[in-house]
Amino acid sequence: QSQELSQARIDYHVALQALQEHGTRMVCSGKMHTDRICRFDYLCYCSEAEEFVFFHSNSSVMLPNLGSRRFQPALLDLSSVEDHNTQYFNFLELPAATLKFMPKPVFVPDVTLILNRFNPDNLMHVFHDDLLPAFYTMKQYSDLDDEARLVFMEGWGEGPHFDLYRLLSSKQPLLKEQLKNFGKLMCFTKSYVGLSKMTTWYQYGFVQPQGPKANMLVSGNEIRQFAKALMEKMNITRVEEMEKDGGSAEDEKEKEKRDEYIVVFSRSTTRLILNEAELIMALAQEFQMRVVTVSLEEQSFPSIVQVISGASMLVSMHGAQLITSLFLPRGATVVELFPFAVNPEQYTPYKTLASLPGMDLHYVSWRNTKEENTITHPDRPWEQGGIAHLEKDEQERILASKDVPRHLCCRNPEWLFRIYQDTLVDIPSFLELLKEGMKTKPSLKKSKPASTVHPGRVREPQCQTSVQTTNEAKLTVSWQIPWNLKYLKVREVKYEVWIQEQGENTYMPYILPQQNYTFSENIKPFTTYLVWVSGSNGHGRIFHLWSLCLPFR
Ligand code: UDP
Repeated sequence: QSQELSQARIDYHVALQALQEHGTRMVCSGKMHTDRICRFDYLCYCSEAEEFVFFHSNSSVMLPNLGSRRFQPALLDLSSVEDHNTQYFNFLELPAATLKFMPKPVFVPDVTLILNRFNPDNLMHVFHDDLLPAFYTMKQYSDLDDEARLVFMEGWGEGPHFDLYRLLSSKQPLLKEQLKNFGKLMCFTKSYVGLSKMTTWYQYGFVQPQGPKANMLVSGNEIRQFAKALMEKMNITRVEEMEKDGGSAEDEKEKEKRDEYIVVFSRSTTRLILNEAELIMALAQEFQMRVVTVSLEEQSFPSIVQVISGASMLVSMHGAQLITSLFLPRGATVVELFPFAVNPEQYTPYKTLASLPGMDLHYVSWRNTKEENTITHPDRPWEQGGIAHLEKDEQERILASKDVPRHLCCRNPEWLFRIYQDTLVDIPSFLELLKEGMKTKPSLKKSKPASTVHPGRVREPQCQTSVQTTNEAKLTVSWQIPWNLKYLKVREVKYEVWIQEQGENTYMPYILPQQNYTFSENIKPFTTYLVWVSGSNGHGRIFHLWSLCLPFR
């Protein structure tokens, strides 16, 4: 690799002179360390000190210039996990003049994205924390293209899924460990530091119990485009596009002809389904479909994605392998199994993914409620759920408990004990629940109204009051349709009108099909009203901004 880098496409002397004269330049986006991504010219890294270095000269730029607040707590998060205190990024500062006394820098000519992988051993973390955020950070900055260099600073080895990280660009990603090989001082000609958090949907429970992120900003569309790009890189094409969501009789027939199948994603070392064969037989019989099993232990990742990308249903025990549901075709069902005493409502990374707007996956969870069907492993090491290291009282409490109480990440022994149980799936109750769950599966056709295209705000709202008698008045309100409405196939447009007496906190809401109306009930003479007009698509969903008009007195 050092050879690869030293075939510099840049003139060394020009680069060195530029660094000495201009120093480092940094311009960031984001107001807080948690939403910041910085772009640098000539950010350097000292491998001996394991520190990034900012060289000050007369023409260096540092924006934002936070002064000492740069350390409260950090300039930015280097991983996509929000405000995690092991994932902070900062640099040290030196005058550019000190370069004279330092080892000759090696320049990295590639545009570089510098980040921390959060947990590269775990497939869910690989996708949710690293691959998706890196993919969309690269989309955000156009010079982070297929030729970009990724540098992983968390300090881990390649890990079992390094091939997936390789798909992000044509250049081999670098690990922190490898930076030493390039010499004592290494300077990135152009680099971006940090990851976009826009695509993440789950928080792991560091400050409050785990659950969906409070403010999710990603929809199924972006997840699917990412999945498509990755599949292209892996040379996978979906066997059949299930996505053609016609509802006509012909399409239905077409669908029947297709070879539909169910995938059971199996784990072979921990959190086992003890009667997997029986479960597979039952699924095949119930749905009259072929059932295929896959496991990370037995297949290559691309071959697993190939199978999943054509499946109608994915069944698996709770676990990181379920992240592969992002490769399912639209309209497929995800069935997640939970061991005894684990409440599916409290561990929802895969439910949340399946339920993202436009993801169009149906989600069903099943939980083992029969204690006799669970196999515990109290004597295993603590990280696999062993509890032998705990006080006797605590062990007994855990054994007696039938529900893991809410807890924080990551070492709660009761949680680990329960989540690493093996399960004998009770087939009759499982099939019953699944049949019930399939009843609420929306048809793809219904789930795809123009909900992704929003009409704009209503235009030219007008209102006029007229006094009838000393205690009777009328209020006439009219407006024009949103500008883009005539181009949209939105059925059933309704307008929502709120009438609020000035100074009052309450209002009277009306839903109207037409674009004007004269109100006479509850309208007082000589009163100012605030009238808010909006559109809704008939399902009670308000889809644009309010307009405001003040009536005459
Ligand atoms: N894993 C697997 N088979 C197993 C156990 C684990 O393939 O029998 C994978 C799992 O999908 C994940 C990684 O190994 O990518 C770590 O598993 P762990 O149980 O620690 O995490 P979890 O699945 O609960 O997120």
